Amino acid sequence: MRKPVIGLMPLWDEKLCSYWMLPGYMDGITAAGGIPVMLPPDPDEEALLQLFRMCGGFLLTGGHDLSPSLYGEEPLAECGLPAGERDRLEPALLKLARQENKPVFGICRGLQLINAVLGGTLYQDLPTQHPSETNHHMAPPYDRAAHENRILPGTPLHSLLKTDTLNVNSYHHQAIKDLAPCLEAMAVSEDGLVEAVRDPAQRFLWAVQWHPEFALNQPSSRALFTSFVNACK
Ligand code: MN
Repeated sequence: MRKPVIGLMPLWDEKLCSYWMLPGYMDGITAAGGIPVMLPPDPDEEALLQLFRMCGGFLLTGGHDLSPSLYGEEPLAECGLPAGERDRLEPALLKLARQENKPVFGICRGLQLINAVLGGTLYQDLPTQHPSETNHHMAPPYDRAAHENRILPGTPLHSLLKTDTLNVNSYHHQAIKDLAPCLEAMAVSEDGLVEAVRDPAQRFLWAVQWHPEFALNQPSSRALFTSFVNACK
């Protein structure tokens, strides 16, 4: 069977003025039977449509804080600098993917972007807006548990992982505040943040707040990539 090509959102490093990619995203997709391809950050409309048709699915990667304009807010002083090109590319691809029911998997920023574009809001700065004892911003190495998530019964994530709780790594500055109306929560952290979602109306539109790409040694991480890539076939 032909392997599905998966479009990856480019990571941006403003200090080096570089677009780049973490091996974990590529390795996770490759191990699951897909071909990962990093997309250009600023395609024109025609190129965007061509790329959209070329890919069997899209991985919305982690990275910068989202521009609060995506959910109708002004940035607080604590909000990180936005990645302007990503903030334009990713909503456009998400909208196309939903129209054509193409699989999308969001990780960290990807979860936040999906929630914002579909009508939810974010905490711009967790430490000041949602203070808690839970460590959401761990130090490396990232293939360790930082906190526990409850996996909600009856969700496809629960069917996939067959567990009521999952220890996850955690490296995020923002998080879902109001869940978008069309999204279903699939996992919740100890301090009440929604850390996994899906759109039940789509073939596969899933997102997680943790970082499976940093923990491919864990069966749950590999299961997530495999579910996504299988949906893209
Ligand atoms: Mn977390």
